[in-house]
Amino acid sequence: MYPVYLDNNATTKIAPEVVEAMLPFLTSCYGNPSSSHSVGRKVAGHIEKARRKVADLIGAQHSDEIVFTSCGTESDTSAIFGALAACPDKKHIVISAVEHPAIKEPCSWLARHGYRITVLPVNADGELDPRTLRDAVTPGTAVVSLMWANNETGVIFPVDEISKTLSDRNVIFHTDAVQAAGKISIDVKQTGISMLSLSGHKFHAPKGIGALYIRRGTPFVPLLRGGGQENRKRSGTENVASIVGMGKAAQLAAEGLNSHATAIRSLRDRMEARIIDTIPGSKINGRNARRLINTSNISFDGTNGSEIVRELDRLGICVSSGAACHSGAAQPSPVLSAMGISFMESQGSIRISLSRYTTEKEVDILMEQLPEVVERVRKRKKD
Ligand code: PLP
Repeated sequence: MYPVYLDNNATTKIAPEVVEAMLPFLTSCYGNPSSSHSVGRKVAGHIEKARRKVADLIGAQHSDEIVFTSCGTESDTSAIFGALAACPDKKHIVISAVEHPAIKEPCSWLARHGYRITVLPVNADGELDPRTLRDAVTPGTAVVSLMWANNETGVIFPVDEISKTLSDRNVIFHTDAVQAAGKISIDVKQTGISMLSLSGHKFHAPKGIGALYIRRGTPFVPLLRGGGQENRKRSGTENVASIVGMGKAAQLAAEGLNSHATAIRSLRDRMEARIIDTIPGSKINGRNARRLINTSNISFDGTNGSEIVRELDRLGICVSSGAACHSGAAQPSPVLSAMGISFMESQGSIRISLSRYTTEKEVDILMEQLPEVVERVRKRKKD
């Protein structure tokens, strides 16, 4: 049985058109794009076409503002370290309480090495108030890094308003748009964003390819030095096939953005309504906030999310749980904790995330099983 895959914020299926676009670069077109001969030049040309497509997905004016990386994590790390290295006199960073570990972990390391980190709170719906930035940002602030959309709840931060608030503050504004790209419209020309992170595998490109948008003129020191690839901003021979794949995926995402969003949102909204109607004690986390069109984070009273995930998995349905299991002990999700959600509620939460490949039938299969699974887990927990 083919699994019902409802975990698209973890990763997505590679689009068939993407696989097709990549294949020549895994077989006949194997030149090194830095080579000056015709084989190398041809490959370099395809990288530039992919760069333009990724630039178009986020409205970047110049394609040389796109730097290909190995993943979203590398893009986030490069943004933070690259900005700090370029502003050595500034030792302060502002982030939010719900950032992905790809931002939080480098900041924890920096906090142990002489930097000051301010962590902005979110409200009960996971929303960030841009006014909190006014006091948080000081002349010593090098970078403000706030995500565009949250991976666990799908809650969207008001990136436009944030960039307006920061416009006269002489700081580098980075946003992690790994979950937002391909799901909502992004236009960096309309905002004051200095840097933006992307990851291919979240929008139907392969794993192991990402990109960092660096607006022209943004102070930046590269993390990887060497042969000077990627306009001297990220050395290392390019992952050509994956870059071409990410370009194709970006093109498909941009072309279908509105129609995909409408279909996915209506599927997600109907699914949420059915869950609320049929499963007592269920609650959508972040329900009053602007959210990504594909994401539902749901708490079920008196249950255990990890057990629900396990039971659904046995039935061929893939979703993910809000609680992470470290050394045997279930830890509450830091994202849900930051929203003031209790340990018990957080423990009983799961994330369901759809994509343009999700069908009505898949949601029906989930809904045939979920009420009984929740009931079983609830009963076991009570006993
Ligand atoms: N940022 C966010 C918001 C994410 O959801 C993820 C992955 O889940 C990442 C960064 C890391 O991306 P990657 O898996 O490409 O390293």
